Amino acid sequence: MMIVMKEGATDDQVRAVVDRVESVGCSAHISKGDILTVIGAIGDRDRVAALGLEGTPGVDHLVPILKPYKLASAQFRKGERTVIDVDGRKVGGEHFALIAGPCTVESRDQTLEVARVVAEGGGSMLRGGAYKPRTSPYSFQGLGAEGLRLLQEAKEQTGLPIVTELMDVRDIPDVAEVADVIQIGARSMQNYTLLSEAGRTGIPVLLKRGLSSTLEELLMAAEYVLKEGNEKVMLCERGIRTFETAYRFTLDLLAVPALRELTHLPVIVDPSHAAGRRDWVKPMSLAAAAAGADGIIVEVHNQPEEAICDGPQAVPTEGFADYADQVRLVAEVAGKELSRV
Ligand code: PEP
Ligand code: MN
Repeated sequence: MMIVMKEGATDDQVRAVVDRVESVGCSAHISKGDILTVIGAIGDRDRVAALGLEGTPGVDHLVPILKPYKLASAQFRKGERTVIDVDGRKVGGEHFALIAGPCTVESRDQTLEVARVVAEGGGSMLRGGAYKPRTSPYSFQGLGAEGLRLLQEAKEQTGLPIVTELMDVRDIPDVAEVADVIQIGARSMQNYTLLSEAGRTGIPVLLKRGLSSTLEELLMAAEYVLKEGNEKVMLCERGIRTFETAYRFTLDLLAVPALRELTHLPVIVDPSHAAGRRDWVKPMSLAAAAAGADGIIVEVHNQPEEAICDGPQAVPTEGFADYADQVRLVAEVAGKELSRV
């Protein structure tokens, strides 16, 4: 249930409603917009209805949220879009983020060189995995703590905020020290303990769509983060599994306008993992920006042919500035401004 407070409702009136919601065993999530405050009451709808909150001082009206996800639903923010501020780089609303970097942190030279090119080319944030979800347990699994240290060094040199994957709750203390955005990978999208714990860090979360997940399942996963009081969730379309085998995954670009209708959360597109080939990455990036995405997360490498992981889909550093310029232009046509360092 959504409790819409009157314009000018006082903090005491909001507090009194929250107390009553909690008194019947439900949780209350306050969302303060520019004009209105909305309280999301999560739990048994009948119990909230039985409170008879209509007519309580400060309360304007009550709206039932019919979707199974509540805090993620567009209805919850009454049409306002969530804008996430990552160390000064904004994502969502009119702000477009270009997140770029290697699939995996491999070495100091590689990480610092790619970071420099991303910063100079106008990227918004640096991506790079220190913990990698690999299909084979015999493949390179990431540099772990050493990889995090190199990302920290790249951040200090370039000022780029860091986006890096968290796979295991046991790594939270180390990852939280370096990550400005915690990436939850496609394979972890339904690891509900991981989602809740990532939510509890309060650090923005980039949540990738599972390989075979519906948009509703993605939004329910986001709900796990949101319910911990962490409103800073970005959703990421990265390609889904279909009968088509001509490319790595099927990039579901319709997810962009569909999610923008269903939720207030920013929507990011990862063209790299769907394409699997670098010559397909740019056209799909431009298409994503044109479709209204709030950002792109793309893989970049200084020596793609030597990359330990995902080299064939990496944009080479030589071409990054040109690529970023074109993405920026299309984002501008779609009414968004690129957030830069
Ligand atoms: C990645 O971003 O490097 C990655 C492994 O992505 P996904 O979880 O979407 O496969
Ligand atoms: Mn990758």
